[in-house]
Formats: sequence, C-alpha cells, structure tokens
Amino acid sequence: MDRLYSPSVISDIQRRYGFTAAKSLGQNFLADKNTIDRIVGCAGIEAGDLVIEIGPGMGVLTAAAAEKAGLVVAIEIDRRLMPILEENLAGYGNIRLINADILKTDVNAVIADALAAGTPAPDTAPEGIMAHAAGPPQSALAGTPTPDTVPEGIMAHAVGPPQSALAGTPTPVKIIGNLPYYITNPIVMKLLEDGVAADSMTFMLQKEAAARICAPPGTPGCGAVSAAVSFYCQPHMAMSVSREVFVPRPNVDSSVIRLDIHKGHAARPISDRMFFAVVRAGFGQRRKTLLNSLTGLAGLSKGEIGKALEAAGISPMRRAETLGLQEIAAVADAICLLQASTRP
Ligand code: SAM
Repeated sequence: MDRLYSPSVISDIQRRYGFTAAKSLGQNFLADKNTIDRIVGCAGIEAGDLVIEIGPGMGVLTAAAAEKAGLVVAIEIDRRLMPILEENLAGYGNIRLINADILKTDVNAVIADALAAGTPAPDTAPEGIMAHAAGPPQSALAGTPTPDTVPEGIMAHAVGPPQSALAGTPTPVKIIGNLPYYITNPIVMKLLEDGVAADSMTFMLQKEAAARICAPPGTPGCGAVSAAVSFYCQPHMAMSVSREVFVPRPNVDSSVIRLDIHKGHAARPISDRMFFAVVRAGFGQRRKTLLNSLTGLAGLSKGEIGKALEAAGISPMRRAETLGLQEIAAVADAICLLQASTRP
C-alpha cells in the first residue's frame, strides 16, 4: 500500500484507468503517508473496531484503517473508482466496498449488517477472489439481499479473502472520511439526524467548515450543524492539514475534527426530530427573530409559537444563534407539548 502514497503513482493509476478526478465530487486524493497515519491516529482505530469510511477514493485511508480495524466498510459514490479500489485493496480481507451515495444510504442498516454478519459469506467472497456483486441491491457484507439497506443500483464488493472481522460485542463503531467538501454539512447533519449508531466520527474537511462545525452554541459562528453537533457530540479540533498533500491540490487548507457521540445524553429533547426542525428553521433564517423563523413549524401559528416560546422561558425576539443548547431543546420540547395539547 505504501506505493499509493506517492503523487506520481496516483497519476499513473489515473492514466492506466483513464480516470480524471471529478471536481463535482470533491475528489482531492490524499498523497501523504504521515497525514494518513495521523488521521487514523485521531480516529483512535483499534483491533476489533468496525470502521465506516465515507468516500474512500483510491483507498489510501481505507487501507490504513484496515491495518488497525476489524472491518472497514467503505461507501463510495463514484462507480469509476470501484475497479481501482479493488486493485489497490486486493490484499485486504477485512474491507467491504459499497458503491452508493452516502446521503441516500441507510448507514445504521450498513452498521447492523456488518455487526450481524461479521464475516463475509463464502459465496460472496471466495478465497483470493474479489467478489463483484452487481445487479440487485445486496447486503454489503453477508451476501443476503437487504433492499432497505442500500439504494437501487448499488454494487456491493468484497475485497480479498474472507477473514474473521469483528472481535466481539460491543463492537466500537467509528466513522471516518476525507469528506467531499461540497457536502460536508449535509453528511454530518444526515448522520446526526439518522441517530447513527456510532461512537465517533473523524472527518477531514475544509478548515473554515471545521471551525464552524466546532463553534460552540451561542457564539456568532454557530449554525444549524454546530448546534446539532454540540448537542449530540463532543467536538474536538484534531489537526490542520496543508493543501499541499492532495492530488489534485485544492484551493483551501483542511482540518481534521473528531466528534465523539454522547452516549445516553443526560438531557435529550422529547423528540430528536423536533430538535432538528427547530435548529433548521431557526438557523435557516438566522436574521429573523425566533417568533418569525419558527412560525409555521409543526403547523403552528405565530400565536402558538409565541406561547411555546413563553412556556420555554425564551423571549420571542431572540435569534437562534443566541440560544444555548438547553434553550434550543427547551423550545423544541415546548413546541412538542403544545402540538400534543392542541392536536391530540
Ligand atoms: N478518501 C480518499 C482520500 O483521502 O484520498 C478520497 C477523498 S475525496 C476528498 C472525497 C471522496 O468522496 C471521493 O472519492 C468522492 O468520489 C467521494 N464522494 C463524493 N460524494 C460522495 C457521496 N455523496 N457519497 C459517497 N462518496 C462520495
């Protein structure tokens, strides 16, 4: 795998496969072993872990994670990268590839499949042969069709010989990715809204986006994603990464963040869905007062939203970005309670 860390080898692969990096898919490939090792270090990947990788690209981070983890399931949207990944990762028995859009993938179902299966079914990944399961939707791991797991048209690929993958239960689940910058926020938001059953998420993303995501609530930089992140995770800025270590070189520098997902949050809102609805509505129109930005939420009138804000002890003239986390949760709870009392 070391050979992959060289920009000239990446160029050679691109030439051999006639592959051109798609700007529209945020394809900037990592070409620096030190950076890759440090990202894996930030994620704290250990033997027995289940790692879900978003956007494996040519597989450099995938391979480095697989050196440490029990099993790596990598989800890549670009079908053109599948044969490249299969070639680059052929020596690994603990990597599974899914050709799918992460935004349309039921990540909890992928995790459940991985935990349930643990090892690939023999007919999906015969020893020494890369299974290539095209056609109907399939489980990424066990070869059992699970139509709900993955979007139509998906191909599940098992790379390398079958191996015992996961050490036992409970299996730590760690999500990693050098994220496509154009959809950083939607990816993080989706994983949180879906209540992803993971312990941590370690992502490389554009430096400014990383700072925004980690901005504490009640500060000017805080937006919908940072509010959601702060509520469900403990965010950490882990390291800075120069634009020089990518092929092709992007116009921005990057940062790596790690989001440790809270277990059994002490003060969960009554409804996670309503929490996210308040966050989206409030921060989506951040210049408006809460009274205006939340009107219409859950079908409630301005007067009803005013009552909910009053019940939560929040001035209707405040803006979402001034709210602390517990205040956002209190507003969401008050709206839920009002909704329940007015529309039984
Ligand atoms: N992990 C590789 C690396 O570090 O070299 C590639 C990282 S590159 C910044 C982002 C990767 O995400 C690309 O391989 C791209 O094709 C993939 N990608 C983009 N949009 C995606 C989506 N919606 N779902 C899954 N993968 C996606």
